[in-house]
Amino acid sequence: MPVYTSEALILRTYKLGEADRIVVFLTRDRGKKRGVAKGARRARSRYTGALEPMTRAGVAYYEREQRELVRLNYVEVIRSPMAASGRNEQSDAALGHVGYFAELIDEWAPEAHADERLYRLGSSMVDAIADGAPVERLARYFEYWLLRLQGVYPALACPGCGRAFEHGAVMPPRDHLYVCRRCAPPGGGLGVSAEAMRFLGLAGAAAPGRLDGLPLAPRASRELETAHRRLIALHLDKELKSARVLREMRSAF
Ligand SMILES: [Zn+2]
Repeated sequence: MPVYTSEALILRTYKLGEADRIVVFLTRDRGKKRGVAKGARRARSRYTGALEPMTRAGVAYYEREQRELVRLNYVEVIRSPMAASGRNEQSDAALGHVGYFAELIDEWAPEAHADERLYRLGSSMVDAIADGAPVERLARYFEYWLLRLQGVYPALACPGCGRAFEHGAVMPPRDHLYVCRRCAPPGGGLGVSAEAMRFLGLAGAAAPGRLDGLPLAPRASRELETAHRRLIALHLDKELKSARVLREMRSAF
């Protein structure tokens, strides 16, 4: 049985039998894998604390011929988003988002097909969360880059007239692109302010650890969130469970 070692991001787990878990993880070099973590549900498991979503870890696993499921040998935490836990209100809010980030990566990562850029994006999110980056901005940044890496983020210039969006933009109803207000068809659509557009422009060149210096007011963040949700739903052809949970959490408080 060939053994592989790699750096990986833990995406999710689910129960298997009485004592085990299946772990979905994104390896840096060989893409997404599903593996059995023996005994992971036992109280004194060597996997305790290592299988939280968005944990970056060193993993070793065996591949078995003709089987989709690999067998995990060990998972050693390199960096955990839980490091941010309890530091302040903001970092607690960030932990509420790790499931969302992990689910998006899980949905987008093809099985067993390496995607170095996706891995690096996910990995940089772990660092940003652990370092206490502002979570709403981080979420918009992540959505933007994820869609961009898939080649499906709309152009940040008007397809009608070629102008940049320094006065904001509109995403017309049932459309999945931005147009300037002059070229927007009558009947409104989703307005995206100049501030939100400026954020996208800067986010394209900024590291996720540098979002402190990129302003994004809550209202502008909501505009982008709505636009991104439409893009994500279009390309995944469904709404993410975790996105729904985040929205419900927000309306509950
Ligand atoms: Zn235009």
